[in-house]
Amino acid sequence: MERSNGGQNVKWALLGASTIAGQYMVSAIRAQTDGAVRWVVSGKAERARAFAQAHRIELWSTSVEEALEDQAVQAVYISTTNEKHYPLAMAAIGAGKHVLCEKPLAMDAAEAAEMVSAARSAGVTLAVNHHLRSAGSHKAIRALITSGALGRVLSLRLFHAVHLPEHLRGWRLDNPSAGGGVIMDLTVHNADTVRFLLREDPASVIAETATSGMGAGVEDSAMSVWTMPSGAMVFSHESFTHPFTESGIEVHGTQASVFARGVMAQEPLGRIELVSKQGRGEISFDAAEIYGSVIEDFQSAVARRASPAATGTDGAKSLMVARAVHDAARTGARQTINYGEIE
Ligand code: NDP
Repeated sequence: MERSNGGQNVKWALLGASTIAGQYMVSAIRAQTDGAVRWVVSGKAERARAFAQAHRIELWSTSVEEALEDQAVQAVYISTTNEKHYPLAMAAIGAGKHVLCEKPLAMDAAEAAEMVSAARSAGVTLAVNHHLRSAGSHKAIRALITSGALGRVLSLRLFHAVHLPEHLRGWRLDNPSAGGGVIMDLTVHNADTVRFLLREDPASVIAETATSGMGAGVEDSAMSVWTMPSGAMVFSHESFTHPFTESGIEVHGTQASVFARGVMAQEPLGRIELVSKQGRGEISFDAAEIYGSVIEDFQSAVARRASPAATGTDGAKSLMVARAVHDAARTGARQTINYGEIE
């Protein structure tokens, strides 16, 4: 099988004629000097054809096998509804393709573990589009923590309540078997953000969920508190129903606090302030397009046989945190997370 060496054109197949593929990922691939979109595959012929036409993609199909049989394709981007991530990733890995899968990596830990193990055995890259760790703002916050500027981290608060745009009010709000609900959509991002910033995995969680105006059969809001091995306390809030709030991250340490607003986003937006004995100051960060960074990093990881920004294991662990939040809210009992299955 031909593999990207960084100097070749990396040809992608998109599995899923989705909003995110059309809005961000096609242009993110094309922004690379060596990235090209060769296929789009959809469950519906008309949607595949229309997507291919709208985005000037050479080939379209309703057959995943047809795209995967194409030896010119090295990389696959999966952005279907969540329940299809596992079977599609397994098929792509089985065909020897490198895979960038949307979050949540799968529906449960068992599926995620199988995907990680299959990619390892096949010698292909499995990455997850936890794009926030590729944002300049998140990298800047992590650098502040790592540099010791905050002292010992006492607590971290994540605000990820949004107003779900009208055009996304479909399966997310009423289809649990497609992986709907705010926990699979946003808590999983928060989990990856906390793991990225603090470099440790939540040990246990307690949680509450609510249906506050949009969800039908799934939760549209969640709040949870996570116990970290270091002793830092984490609070995480996600919602689809909040029209006027702003996203944010606060990290409070013994020497300083970070206040970041507007940074849980798809665009490289927001602002960060550091507050300490010395006063309050703005922290600058790289405002490069986020999904472009994800693709650049993925293609470079494939070429160098190195780890991508968010590995399959990262995706599996963040999914396990989200599932634990779901179970804690459902049972009313603290959930301890055992990562043994994927380590
Ligand atoms: P969409 O609802 O736009 O697309 C999901 C699937 O629904 C598509 O694959 C497509 O199926 C089908 N579909 C698309 N448009 C229509 C339509 N008009 N009518 C009927 N069916 C349609 O989902 P999103 O793009 O919002 O999300 C896709 C995935 O990406 C999810 O896993 C989500 O969690 C993830 N995501 C990740 C983000 C990130 O920042 N990392 C941001 C947003 C989403 P088919 O393939 O058969 O055509």
